[in-house]
Amino acid sequence: MITGRYAPSPSGRMHLGNLLCCLLAWLSAKSKGGQVLLRIEDLDTLRCPRHFADAIVEDLAWLGLSADGPEPPVYQSERSEIYLHYYKELERRGMVYPCFCSRSQLHAASAPHRSDGQVLYAGTCRNLTPEQVAEKAKTRAPAWRVRVPDEKIAFTDGHLGPYAENLARDCGDFYLRRADGVFAYQLAVVVDDALMGVTEVVRGADLLSSTPRQLWLYRELGLQAPQFYHLPLLLAADGRRLSKRDGDQSLEHLRAKYAPEEIIGKLAFACGLQESPRPTTPAALAQTFDWAKVPKHDILLPEKLF
Ligand code: GLU
Repeated sequence: MITGRYAPSPSGRMHLGNLLCCLLAWLSAKSKGGQVLLRIEDLDTLRCPRHFADAIVEDLAWLGLSADGPEPPVYQSERSEIYLHYYKELERRGMVYPCFCSRSQLHAASAPHRSDGQVLYAGTCRNLTPEQVAEKAKTRAPAWRVRVPDEKIAFTDGHLGPYAENLARDCGDFYLRRADGVFAYQLAVVVDDALMGVTEVVRGADLLSSTPRQLWLYRELGLQAPQFYHLPLLLAADGRRLSKRDGDQSLEHLRAKYAPEEIIGKLAFACGLQESPRPTTPAALAQTFDWAKVPKHDILLPEKLF
């Protein structure tokens, strides 16, 4: 059984980019006779109030993209005990260490950067002595990082093809837990997808570079990794990234203007699934869905489509 998932972070109402991701996750699973599960990625409870999660569930139903379960959905904010279990396993093996670096230290002008523009951790706190840790802990609560090996992790993305990163060189030791105790996305997503029995993950290409880290965690935790499909980013006609702050691209605005079939039809046209923006349904698109139709490069939303 193919099991896909939606894993939205409910920090606002969905926008067209979020919706494209849900549409492709649904089509990829359903076109193979599979199911789609819903997990709300609300680890950051302050940024992700429950009413936005409820709006996502309602928007998906309105669009004909309801998940097949579970009911209620999985909420990451309720799963700290589960993440702790896996975190402790890594800790027990000496793979976790406290990092006392401040934001400004991490983002210093001299800091090395990853290819995706993010700061590469310089390893400042990697080899602190127990005395140094005790001293630093007097003035600052640490965040917790995992020690990565000098090893290349390669995989073949179902849509974008081969991708590899050397964890030490291209990624660096990454966070597993914040100073306030909240577990990091990288750990939670691996544990959740494995425990929910997810066999395929469909998500934006902005997360492609997280995948080697996650595949390594799957291996270290003895969990079964899914197949990954990363979809191109959907950009506004002028090349800007869509964001939840772009009110005109939010589901709230779009629902006031269009029927669900119109939104699905326009979006399917923008990403190559049909030749015109005519109204359609997810179920109709599933009949002819093929990843080969979806572009591999960023998708510019045609001017005046919405
Ligand atoms: N929660 C993430 C987001 O909304 C997606 C994480 C994932 O698909 O792995 O961007």
